[in-house]
Amino acid sequence: MVFSGLAERLQETFRKLKGKGRLTEADVDEAMKEVRRALLGADVNFQVVKNFIARVKERAVGQDVLGSLTPAQQVIKIVRDELAGLMGGTQSKLNLASKPPTIVMMVGLHGAGKTTTAAKLANVLRKQGRRPLLVAGDVYRPAAIKQLQVLGQQLDIPVFAMGDGQSPVDIARASVEHAIGTGRDLLIIDTAGRLQIDEEMMAELEAIKRTVHPHEILLVVDAMTGQVAVNVAETFNQRLGLDGVVLTKLDGDTRGGAALSVKAVTGCPIKFVGVGEKLDALEPFHPDRMADRILGMGDVLTLIEKAQASFDAEQVARLNQKIKSAEFTLEDFLEQLQEVKKLGPLQQVISMIPGLSSMKKLKELGDVDDKELVYVEAIIKSMTPWERAHPHEINGSRRRRIARGSGTSVQKVNSVLKQFEQTRKMMKQFAEVGRGAKKGGRIP
Ligand code: GDP
Repeated sequence: MVFSGLAERLQETFRKLKGKGRLTEADVDEAMKEVRRALLGADVNFQVVKNFIARVKERAVGQDVLGSLTPAQQVIKIVRDELAGLMGGTQSKLNLASKPPTIVMMVGLHGAGKTTTAAKLANVLRKQGRRPLLVAGDVYRPAAIKQLQVLGQQLDIPVFAMGDGQSPVDIARASVEHAIGTGRDLLIIDTAGRLQIDEEMMAELEAIKRTVHPHEILLVVDAMTGQVAVNVAETFNQRLGLDGVVLTKLDGDTRGGAALSVKAVTGCPIKFVGVGEKLDALEPFHPDRMADRILGMGDVLTLIEKAQASFDAEQVARLNQKIKSAEFTLEDFLEQLQEVKKLGPLQQVISMIPGLSSMKKLKELGDVDDKELVYVEAIIKSMTPWERAHPHEINGSRRRRIARGSGTSVQKVNSVLKQFEQTRKMMKQFAEVGRGAKKGGRIP
């Protein structure tokens, strides 16, 4: 998980700080030394770290943190605000045309995830009511056109292609006419990348820019490449003038330095982050929420948005009803688990829950992973419908049979039944609290 190393170190530093009643200047200095080491360890640009620490120190001293009531909390708040500020403060949105179609041009090096991101972005924007057209402008990489066509097909989003015999400038020009003719209000133009930055590529991108005047030039960079990604962003920005950056592969084992340095070094905000290979794994980037996540404060807002986007409102309302009438069965439990699975890998979901996000706590939770859900599903499916409706009456011999049927153990069956019971109780409490307040349609 991105930032896990940084998060762990910062949270440890602040735990120590919180343990002290009053802070001396030496305490703050010591904490800042640790913050500095943690940021450098996460591969954040050296100059960025230096400025960051200087700003935090200045504010910490200037605001009379020393000797105040909760000095540690104030230092943490300053670090949190500065971290968010480093990444751009608040969310930067895409520039949209005042008169459609909006033209988005995707640029970036080979393998950064440009083609995949073009499709993911079309998917995100379609959910917001736009009518996107994907444009296959990468005429050099073998199979890039085909790749975009396949992705478009999977998403049921049209792809404009003219084969690989045409110049990218001509393709871009023709695609705008095509979009206007077919009532599309947004174009996402995939362009050719190279292994490294080279003159020919830049000249070609400039020519496309001059021809179609995109409203948004988005650079796709691979977070795994760390400071290289930041340098790439700087060069592209100098030549093309970028409007934003998409940082991909944030789901991988990256230390996060690129995410923390890109804005500070180039002035270009990160607008989206790629968090997986699947076509729904693109999220708008919220610097403030990311800062909260790094400091272990969770990211409930993103979790709620994901839930609202992927939960089936009718199903949730039906579940709510059942909970209220105390009819919640194992069958419903299974249904609910399947809904939660839609939010993404469990580890990602957990990292957004305040208090659960620190790696230490995650480790304590042990085997909370997606495999565990497979067991739960197998166990519930091995029960008879009667058993699912009467979990309290599942006796020893039934438990043994279920364990055999699901290829698990009696202990596992016991633990699933216990989990179910806890969930049922918790949900009943939620239902009681929420009774009379708001009806259905939300996560239970
Ligand atoms: P392009 O050469 O820049 O067009 O790169 P592609 O779109 O072909 O992507 C290269 C590889 O990176 C593919 O295998 C993608 O599935 C993968 N990829 C792209 N974005 C992400 C991401 O956010 N997370 C992960 N794990 N893989 C990604």
